Amino acid sequence: MNSKRQSKKRDEPVAGSCYACVCTATSREHVPPKNLFPEAKDFQGEDLRQQLITVPSCDIHNLAKSQDDEFLMVCLAGLVGNNSIGYRHNFGKVGRAVRRSAGRLLQKIFIAPQRLYRVELKDNKFVDVLWGSPDVPRLRRCFGQIVRGLLFHDFGRAFEGQVHIHLAFLHLEAGNAKTFNDFLKKRLEMDLVDCPKLGSNPEVFYYQRSEPDEFGLFAYRLRFYGRVEVMAGVLPAASNPPANIIQKFIEGGIKTIVTLGPEEFEFN
Ligand SMILES: [Zn+2]
Repeated sequence: MNSKRQSKKRDEPVAGSCYACVCTATSREHVPPKNLFPEAKDFQGEDLRQQLITVPSCDIHNLAKSQDDEFLMVCLAGLVGNNSIGYRHNFGKVGRAVRRSAGRLLQKIFIAPQRLYRVELKDNKFVDVLWGSPDVPRLRRCFGQIVRGLLFHDFGRAFEGQVHIHLAFLHLEAGNAKTFNDFLKKRLEMDLVDCPKLGSNPEVFYYQRSEPDEFGLFAYRLRFYGRVEVMAGVLPAASNPPANIIQKFIEGGIKTIVTLGPEEFEFN
């Protein structure tokens, strides 16, 4: 009964071309992948798969067909700091997938040897979490496809232009990269302050989209399990941003202070 409900997609035809390229669509792809949303059997019947977003997709750009969906699921659901849904998903579906593969799944996903940590939540409640070095280029590619899927969903056509993914949840050592991360987060927070949170299962996933600036650039913020944050800068092909002088200063090693509201971000 559950599987029937879970596989229900919106009654949209598989006609037309892929959300990410000019190929003919062969299926509808969930954006983000369906397996990130826990099944009702792991949540005492609670439905966390309501009105999932789907877009027409070719085989190449279907994350499920490339097994990138499994990669994403294990990477995201196992991260330290997720809300309780992320944790429980980790112990349900993710745990089953890992056990089925006898650990090979983890070896495929983490580049460095993975470790198991025991973390105390509160009141003597412990959870085991996995950590290693995730395959960052693959993560970036997956999120790039998710953002292109959301762009299709939001605007009704394949997006032409560049999508720059920033994995805000990765741990960074102090330095320019960390300062830049903090700066981007703050900047986006200010841009998104009045933008609605979109998505029907916000404890699992929601996203926000900023208004285009004077050059046509805009941004997405994706949030998974209440905690895992991914940012995307979107540059439509028609946009014409000026050269970024601040970026040149930072790259050139020049001491640069960028002010945002009351906060200062110091580079180099
Ligand atoms: Zn495609």
